Amino acid sequence: MTAKLIDGKAFAATVRAKVAAHVAQIKEENGITPGLAVVLVGEDPASQVYVRSKGKQTVEVGMNSYEHKLEADTSEADLLALIDRLNKDPDVHGILVQLPLPKHLDSDLVINSINPAKDVDGFHISNVGLLGTGQKSMVPCTPLGSLMMLRDYHGSLSGLNAVVIGRSNIVGKPMANLLLGDSCTVTIAHSRTKDLPSVVRQADIVVAAVGRPEMVTGDWIKPGATVIDVGINRIERDGKTALVGDCEFASCAEVAGAITPVPGGVGPMTIACLLANTLTACCRAHGLREPEGLTA
Ligand code: NAD
Repeated sequence: MTAKLIDGKAFAATVRAKVAAHVAQIKEENGITPGLAVVLVGEDPASQVYVRSKGKQTVEVGMNSYEHKLEADTSEADLLALIDRLNKDPDVHGILVQLPLPKHLDSDLVINSINPAKDVDGFHISNVGLLGTGQKSMVPCTPLGSLMMLRDYHGSLSGLNAVVIGRSNIVGKPMANLLLGDSCTVTIAHSRTKDLPSVVRQADIVVAAVGRPEMVTGDWIKPGATVIDVGINRIERDGKTALVGDCEFASCAEVAGAITPVPGGVGPMTIACLLANTLTACCRAHGLREPEGLTA
C-alpha cells in the first residue's frame, strides 16, 4: 500500500474531544447543557444498535441524551405530536428521527415537521435549501465528516476536481454541495453515468457513496488522488461476514495518495458530527460562540 491512511476513528476521537471541551465550557460559563433527542420507531436491529451508540456517545461528551422508543405501529399523528413536544422543549437542542421509518409513516412529512434549527441530521427541506444556496445550515453528518477529513488532509480544496459517485439526498447531493462550497470542480456520477471509470479517473478527490461492494477498483483512480469511501457493505468472505466499502481497498490504496478504510473511515465520523451538530444547534439557540472547525 502506498496511500496515506486517513484514520477516521482517530479523527472522530479528536472531534469528540473538541465537542466535550466546548460542552464543559458552556456548562460552566452559561449553565447550559446541550441535549439530543433520538426517536426510534419500531425494532429494526441495525437502527437499535445505531441509537444505542448515539446515546452512549452523547453522554460521553457531557450532553443530555433523550431516547424515545415508539412501537412499530405508532400512528403518524402520535409521532408528529412527539416531535412537536420536542420542538418546544428548551432542553432539547437536537432532534434525530432514526431512518428508515416503518412504511406506513411518511418520512418526508416527519422530517419536515422537525424545527429546522434542531434538525441535526440536516435533512429538513429548509436546511437542504440553505446548504444549496451556500447559507448557514445544519449539515448532514456523513458528508460533513467526509469534508472535515478532506480539509484536514488537503488544507485548501480550491480548484480540485471532485467526483462524487451517488446522488442520494443523504450523502451524494449534500457532499457535492459542500465540495462546491469549498470551490472544487464537482461532478456527480450515478447509476446512469456513461463510462464511469473514465469519469472517476479525472478526479483529484473521489467520494464513493453507492452501496455496491468494492465497485471502484485501483485502475479507476488517478495516481495520487484522495479516496473517501462512504460505502458500508456486508459481504460473505472466506465463510465469514466482512464489512467492505464501495472501493476495493487494496488496489485503490496502491494508486491513491490517501484513502479512508472501511471500517474505521467515514463511519466513526458520522456520529462524531452528529454530536458536533447538536453542540452547534445549542450554541445558535442561545447566541453563544460556535465551536471552531466543527461546521461547514
Ligand atoms: P442510496 O442507495 O440512497 O444511493 C446510492 C446512489 O448510488 C444512487 O444515487 C445511485 O444512482 C448510485 N448508484 C447505484 N449503482 C450505481 C452504479 N453501478 N454506478 C454508479 N452509481 C450507482 O445510498 P446512500 O444512502 O447514499 O448510501 C450509499 C452508501 O453509503 C451505502 O453503502 C450506505 O450504507 C453508506 N452510508 C454510510 C454512512 C456512514 O456513516 N459511513 C452513512 C450513510 C450511508
